[in-house]
Amino acid sequence: MDAAPTTRLAPSPTGGLHLGNARTFVANWALARQRGGKVLMRIEDVAPTSTTSTWDDDVLGVLRWLGLDWDGPPLIQSAELPPHQEALNTLAARGLVFQCSRTRKELVLVTAPQEGDFEARYAPELRPPQPWPTDPKTAPKGQNWRVKTEPGVVSFSDEFAGNQYFDPHRDVGDFILWTKRGQPSYQLACVIDDYRTGVNMVFRGDDLLSSTARQIVLAKLLGLPLPKWWHVPLVLDEKGDRLAKRNRSIRLTELRDAGVDQGAVLRLLAKWCGHEAPQHIKNIQDFLAGFSIERMPREPVRCTKQDLEQLHER
Ligand code: GLU
Repeated sequence: MDAAPTTRLAPSPTGGLHLGNARTFVANWALARQRGGKVLMRIEDVAPTSTTSTWDDDVLGVLRWLGLDWDGPPLIQSAELPPHQEALNTLAARGLVFQCSRTRKELVLVTAPQEGDFEARYAPELRPPQPWPTDPKTAPKGQNWRVKTEPGVVSFSDEFAGNQYFDPHRDVGDFILWTKRGQPSYQLACVIDDYRTGVNMVFRGDDLLSSTARQIVLAKLLGLPLPKWWHVPLVLDEKGDRLAKRNRSIRLTELRDAGVDQGAVLRLLAKWCGHEAPQHIKNIQDFLAGFSIERMPREPVRCTKQDLEQLHER
């Protein structure tokens, strides 16, 4: 039998969590708890977007309000950078990373199909001439560091989404590992923190499937074990677009502050997770009891106007 899982909830404190984020978190939490696993909390505050919300209230407060719990204190990514720096040093000493001062505009724009937006591909022709600095401590500051990628397919078997095939070299090329602001990129931070906190279960939205391929590249270069992944489809709005944090009517803090009952939110999340009898759910324990990963929808679910109106009914 597999060892009990250790998973993590990894919110980015950028503008408050919405119902789609909450749906992924409660499903992640429930699956781990059903399997006797640990749930860690990690605040991913090294993202390139500016941090606009206070993570203790907007993020942790609303998750507690829903009834979620986690084991141990939250890990605040930006507060513990030495392990990430060490990984950069290791790769630099092996000549696998280089500095880059090119702006996004200078790079070829390619569509990132999973994310519905654009991501710049860094082609190998753009690499600076060798030799590359091998010691980041003495290298010029204020530049991005990129990892040299090799052509080839990265495949993995996702516990939910099935077999996956990506070619990071073709899709994004040499991707950023360390930013000019002096912080690890999401890809590096995720790999290092999952590893050092013993995470062996990663459950998240399927917009991150292509990131998983990049994270596998990094984990292999660093000789780290790979977790298992569950990537689930996102919640979409009525037009078929991803839910956006700027839409206030779906933000958890707004719903809580408007007096919406957390049971009503959990019933909606349960419906979106394929529960058999979501209408009977009053609290997170009921959610847990009725959760089944087998019933989790395989297609994106829609957040309708009626769903939102029902939240406010008493
Ligand atoms: N911080 C990411 C988000 O909020 C999640 C990343 C992950 O689970 O690896 O979308």
